[in-house]
Amino acid sequence: MVKSKITTVVLFIVVMFGSVHQVFANPGVDLAQLQLANGRLELLPYTEILVDDSHKLTLSDVISADKTHFKHSSAIGNSFGFSKANYWLHFSLKNGGLIQDQILLGLAHASIDNAILYSSQADGSYTQAITGESQFHSSRDIELRNFVFRLTEQKDHLKHYYLLIQTEGSLQLPLTLWTASEFIGTVVRESLLFGAYFGLMLVLVVTAAVSYQMTKDKLFLYYGCYLFATSLMHASLVGFSFQYFWPNLPEWSSRFTAVSVGLTVICALAFSAAFLQLWIQKYRYLKTLYLLLIITAIAAVLMVLFDNYEKGVLLVASLGLVAPFVILLVALRSLFSGYQPARYFVVAWMFMLAGGMAEVLLVFGFIPHSDYTVYALQVGSVFEVTLLGYALMKRIELLRLDKEQAQLDSQQYLFQLNNKLEALVERRTESLRATNLALTELASHDGLTGLLNHNAVLDYLQRMKHLALRHQNNLAVIMLDIDYFKKINDQFGHQVGDRVLVSIASILKKNLRNSDGAGRYGGEEFILILPETNLDSAKILADRIRIQIMAMKLTKLAGRQVTASFGISILNHDNPEEDLVSQADSALYKAKDNGRNQVIVFDQDS
Ligand code: GH3
Ligand code: MG
Ligand code: MG
Repeated sequence: MVKSKITTVVLFIVVMFGSVHQVFANPGVDLAQLQLANGRLELLPYTEILVDDSHKLTLSDVISADKTHFKHSSAIGNSFGFSKANYWLHFSLKNGGLIQDQILLGLAHASIDNAILYSSQADGSYTQAITGESQFHSSRDIELRNFVFRLTEQKDHLKHYYLLIQTEGSLQLPLTLWTASEFIGTVVRESLLFGAYFGLMLVLVVTAAVSYQMTKDKLFLYYGCYLFATSLMHASLVGFSFQYFWPNLPEWSSRFTAVSVGLTVICALAFSAAFLQLWIQKYRYLKTLYLLLIITAIAAVLMVLFDNYEKGVLLVASLGLVAPFVILLVALRSLFSGYQPARYFVVAWMFMLAGGMAEVLLVFGFIPHSDYTVYALQVGSVFEVTLLGYALMKRIELLRLDKEQAQLDSQQYLFQLNNKLEALVERRTESLRATNLALTELASHDGLTGLLNHNAVLDYLQRMKHLALRHQNNLAVIMLDIDYFKKINDQFGHQVGDRVLVSIASILKKNLRNSDGAGRYGGEEFILILPETNLDSAKILADRIRIQIMAMKLTKLAGRQVTASFGISILNHDNPEEDLVSQADSALYKAKDNGRNQVIVFDQDS
């Protein structure tokens, strides 16, 4: 019923014909023709049709009706347009005795509400057999997705058949006469093809589900749902869902067909939007259109299920016609804006549309109802879903490449960052080292003169003493103190005093070797540590310094001479415990006592 309605809408939109009828004389079909046609004969050219718009004619009315009321429909193939009329089809068969096989009459169109076949008997009476989509599936004489009547032929007897068809939609009638053996062969072939089709769909659905489970990519979910809905739709359209899922619920079966179409539309929209990344694009109108279509489809499905069934079906059918073209539009838009995966999508979608178009052309009778054309929808669908799967893989590959590139970029960035960081750390470490050095310098040196400070110079003395004792080397210590320094301070000021201290320190530095140590022992008192220096050398050095200090000319001192007194001590290897500093100090005091500006060597005995 629903299928007829969907077809009805299709027909209503495009076809305005339906009455290219002409009167013809019914010669009756000799079954020898069936034999000649290899057990399969299209009956329509031998059929005359009476259209009863009033729904009032009975069998006897039709039998006795004037022949001019019957029309021949072979001119328009096997599609009769749409009408709610009762169709009375009349044909006659005659068995010349050649055919032994069971003869069958098949209606390939799976959606006819009611079909009643009246067959004439030898006594002139008629028997009737009823089938149709409004009956329980189990009531069918032969339980198949299509309608089949068994015919009983008697030898040399011309038998009349009247087939009453009532359906609420377009009527397409591949009305075929079969021998049982040919019919069984065809059903088996068809079952194999449908089995392959639904098997493929099942495999793809499972693959999509597993892929979703593994990748958590929502696209697989949409794809799986689309495949599942498409499978249900196909199963319903060809009559399998009625046959296998709910054979005793004819009313529900009709609704379900519409629901499956609606679900397929919704899934197709959702999948294509996700695949083509529609929601993140700028196309405002297309997005609005998509949303509108999805909402309408959901409403249509709900309508079919719970509300106005008739209108719901009409809406679902219209969506089924419009949505594929909108999807194609979005795919092309996406393709032209440079989105690579859209290429595969467009090709896949074209296959679906081609299959759909073939189906529509078939429904209209523009192309003949043959073994090939009848499966156009399935064939198109197979190419479509397989290509879509391929497109999906391509898209994922593209995403993976993008991700890898991004990872590479971020790794490079990290690497650069790391290098920068290392350089920074290096610089910081360097400056820390310098600071440390400066701090150490500061801790061991006198701020004013730059010589070693009190502690550092004593430390140095200690180390040099150890070395000298170990290597049996000489070690000399000179102490010097500026004469009357207090007076200089008093007379010229503390700052000038400082200048004097700095100048003397530079004289000391100039006169020392690298291994010598010079330190500021106290206020204006200096000490020199001289490794590997004997007494004579120390005396010469002290005197040289003394003279240089005397010769010192500081402008601030206005010609005043500065002198210093010196005390020298020498390491005694026989008595290493002796304190060289206090010995030098005592020699120094002796020099002060002796009148200053002179060098005195410490003497144990004096
Ligand atoms: P003597 O010849 O006996 O050594 O006489 P003196 O005046 O040099 O001896 P004294 O020890 O009495 O005086 C030392 C003076 O040195 C006292 C102090 O003011 C001065 N002095 C000590 N340290 C510094 C310093 O860093 N800068 C300056 N300008 N003066 C200092
Ligand atoms: Mg002094
Ligand atoms: Mg002093």
